[in-house]
Amino acid sequence: MDYFPLFLDLAQQDCLVVGGGEIATRKIRLLLAAGARVTVLAPALHDELAGLAEAGRLRHQSGEFASGIVTRAWRLVIAATDDADVNAAVFAACESAGVLVNAVDDPAHSRFITPAIIDRSPLQIALSTGGGTPVLARQLRAQLEALIPHGYGELAGLLSDLRALSKEKLPEPAARRHFWEQALAGPLPDRVFAGDVQGVRAELVAALNASDAGALTRGAVYLVGSGPGNPDLLTFRALRLMQQADVVLYDNLVSPAIMELVRRDAERIYVGKKASNHALPQEDINQLLVQLAQEGKKVLRLKGGDPFIFGRGGEEIAELAAAGIEFEVVPGITSAAGASCYAGIPLTHRDYAQSVTFVTGHRRAGEIELDWPRLVNPAETVVVYMGVAQAPRISAQLIAHGRAPDTPVAIVANATRNDQQVVIGSLATLADDLAGASIKPPALIIIGDVVKLHAQLNWRKPKQGIAP
Ligand code: SAH
Repeated sequence: MDYFPLFLDLAQQDCLVVGGGEIATRKIRLLLAAGARVTVLAPALHDELAGLAEAGRLRHQSGEFASGIVTRAWRLVIAATDDADVNAAVFAACESAGVLVNAVDDPAHSRFITPAIIDRSPLQIALSTGGGTPVLARQLRAQLEALIPHGYGELAGLLSDLRALSKEKLPEPAARRHFWEQALAGPLPDRVFAGDVQGVRAELVAALNASDAGALTRGAVYLVGSGPGNPDLLTFRALRLMQQADVVLYDNLVSPAIMELVRRDAERIYVGKKASNHALPQEDINQLLVQLAQEGKKVLRLKGGDPFIFGRGGEEIAELAAAGIEFEVVPGITSAAGASCYAGIPLTHRDYAQSVTFVTGHRRAGEIELDWPRLVNPAETVVVYMGVAQAPRISAQLIAHGRAPDTPVAIVANATRNDQQVVIGSLATLADDLAGASIKPPALIIIGDVVKLHAQLNWRKPKQGIAP
């Protein structure tokens, strides 16, 4: 082990920073956040530092470094000048005075080094590559940032608050550990992350008073939007829940690349098949969700796109609400947004469209139920979900109700995925365009003048072998 890791309590401690520029500013922010009393020795101060000095949050000592300033009165000294000789002089002075010193990005002139940090106070994660490759440490930090929910600090704070009570109610350490393991395995942490700190505190206090965590381990359902299929477009929240689930219900809109990211030992239940007829009728899916949650499982209902846009998400959770089951809904990027960005077709644009409407081309009793007169405004973009099979009828109706036959149209299939296809045409040619192209579902239709922008804004080059 090259370094001894530690966390230092600097509250009200005198710390000296030599240098008043940008690098010094970064270090000073952290020192102040940790409650240190900071003195900055520098001929001049960076704007932000000058502001802090004016506000009385730090002391500015104007001038150049001279070794006389270093005494045992300082808890810590940081050399943050851009002059290696000055930093070396600071180091030498601190070493002879026995004061902890760090020269920024210069381990040879440091008695301690500073880690890359993830701050979810009171939870803090510090990581270090021994000063050799700070870039790598920062990369790792970014990865961890993505994995650790922001609410972890609140969770850690809540658990610390309840520590004394848990010691009193469960004096036996093994019983206490068991209690907390059970409590943290259930849905409570996720409720804290979603903001319900008070409710969770009350439940934990009640369970501690009863010395029983049994009631805390109940099941819950997470209705999660997985976006249009490209795993990079998942939310952090979606990914975390995917990695915690006991059981996952998914359908054909959830891409295989996304299913890859689900916890390996989670049970997978496929509830949908191609086209609109479900492998499991909707009512059975609703029931299954209730039943699995009642068995105490963490159930992930994974949906394509956003769960509340043509996703029947509302129906699924209505049943859960009626059965008194805990649930949470996580938004996803709806396929219209994914298709729009990945095909270079802004859905609104000052010159072409002031509004956008999302409609479904799905038929009920054989008929498309759309309010056609409302869809013919030339300054409005219309996006049709589930409409490709009905595209010829949709274009015929729009033309019949007054939308110009030369209105440009794009079909975007498998939006955002590696095999995305874009076919461009017009209302008049849509039927022929579709007949000529082999479109693989799922696909969306985008109608309106904004489609003209595709030629210029299409940034995503099609994969070889797929027609543009
Ligand atoms: N909740 C989903 C939509 C479900 S309806 C969402 O927010 O996107 C199913 C329809 O969504 C499909 O018929 C198709 O029109 C569209 N769709 C879903 N994923 C798509 C994708 N990757 N590319 C193009 N269209 C997609």
